Amino acid sequence: MKILLAASEVVPFAKTGGLADVAGALPLALEGAGNEIIVTMPRYKNITDSAFKIVRVKEDISYSVIGKNIKVYFIENAKYFDREGLYGDKNGDHKDNLERFSYYCKRTLELLKEINFKPDIIHVHDWQACLIPVYLKTLFARDNFYKNTRTILTIHNIGYQGLFPKEEFPKLGLDWSLFNIEGLEFYGKINILKGGMEFCNIINTVSPTYSKEIQTKEFGFGLEGVLNKRRDSVFGILNGLDYSIWNPETDKFIAKNYSLKNTEDKTKSKEGLQKTCKLPLERDVPLFGIVSRLAEQKGLDILAEAIDSICNLDLQLVILGTGDVKYHLLLEEKVKKYPKVISLHLKFDDVLAHNIYAGSDIFLMPSKYEPCGLGQLISLRYGTIPLVFKTGGLADTVSKDNGFIFGSYSSEDLLETIKKSMKAFQDKGKWNSLIRKAMQYNFSWEESARKYLELYALAKSQ
Ligand code: ADP
Repeated sequence: MKILLAASEVVPFAKTGGLADVAGALPLALEGAGNEIIVTMPRYKNITDSAFKIVRVKEDISYSVIGKNIKVYFIENAKYFDREGLYGDKNGDHKDNLERFSYYCKRTLELLKEINFKPDIIHVHDWQACLIPVYLKTLFARDNFYKNTRTILTIHNIGYQGLFPKEEFPKLGLDWSLFNIEGLEFYGKINILKGGMEFCNIINTVSPTYSKEIQTKEFGFGLEGVLNKRRDSVFGILNGLDYSIWNPETDKFIAKNYSLKNTEDKTKSKEGLQKTCKLPLERDVPLFGIVSRLAEQKGLDILAEAIDSICNLDLQLVILGTGDVKYHLLLEEKVKKYPKVISLHLKFDDVLAHNIYAGSDIFLMPSKYEPCGLGQLISLRYGTIPLVFKTGGLADTVSKDNGFIFGSYSSEDLLETIKKSMKAFQDKGKWNSLIRKAMQYNFSWEESARKYLELYALAKSQ
């Protein structure tokens, strides 16, 4: 199949979140399965000729190769993309985001014609690429080149929709008739994600449970109605994990490598982490790890409510993350109160993250909602038992067979589940078999790519 993947961030060129991981890894797995795939993204300021091997195609188009032969085409425009920040800077969102990403989408569709790449499938990701399905069905509707092209939209987090004031509508180059409830209008504003959802052939999210949750008022952020209307075209496929990066057997950052053959060496990583974090070297005290954005979505509100009760238990807690200032302040206060219990690191630190995944006994991820989640997948591979709230991708990947899961979103339930996990930790024999079981789960990209190919085939048949 011939596939275009369109995303506003792609590893290794630009990343602010999980979207970039997916956009960088899925093409590799699709290529591995014998498909012809290209990618387009904006050329941001950091994508320099010195940082990457870049080939010029024409004045405003260049590319770099990933995988065996996947060309990632960069759409260049100094006015729109040669600046700090993908979507915004310290002053907030860039004011011209609507123009920037509408330019990216339109230029992508022109480019495919210029390089004569006639895709069977255009797979767009998040609101920034959502004008592609819209333009295909409007500006390019009579273009024979795209007659057999079908579109799939993957929503990575429905909380981000690309909302703009109505007054900006003329900048899209679309007829005003599209500013209605069946089109891009949403409570008097422009909603770009909604446009993509209305105009694409198939809508997909990053886990089966999240695909159902977003059809409800609680999780839909106002778009549940649109999803309900299209429920026969809504699917969910779990993200994969890159096991060449996340593997305790080969991980260069951790105190001692370990695998199923020598799980007892995991204790060396625990010791290493306790040393780094200046925590007492206690082997029998359960060590809980958190690597997360410090935001309410990640369960920080119930964690904050329960933090004193948690710290009065016989445990250790290492927290790595950045986010809302209110959580920074609160946690800083708690470290002062419980210095032998909490070790706090308010920063982004990849090396420490690897050490926390390897050195903790239990990984805490009580997210209020979680489209897919990577932390629990990583921790499973490291034999660090996840403790999660039953939502989205967490519900699809963690169960009582490989972790601890609570079903009502409250600080009480979180605390009770922490106590339950501590009790289980005391039974060394059972705990070791749990570690071994967790490490054997496989969430590879090959499996996810196979499911995406099924979805592409379904879109083609429409
Ligand atoms: P998100 O909603 O933030 O995308 P995911 O669980 O899908 O959540 O992915 C988060 C990724 O970012 C994980 O790989 C996690 O290890 C990493 N991460 C989050 N915060 C930090 C941090 N402060 N330092 C290092 N890595 C982090």
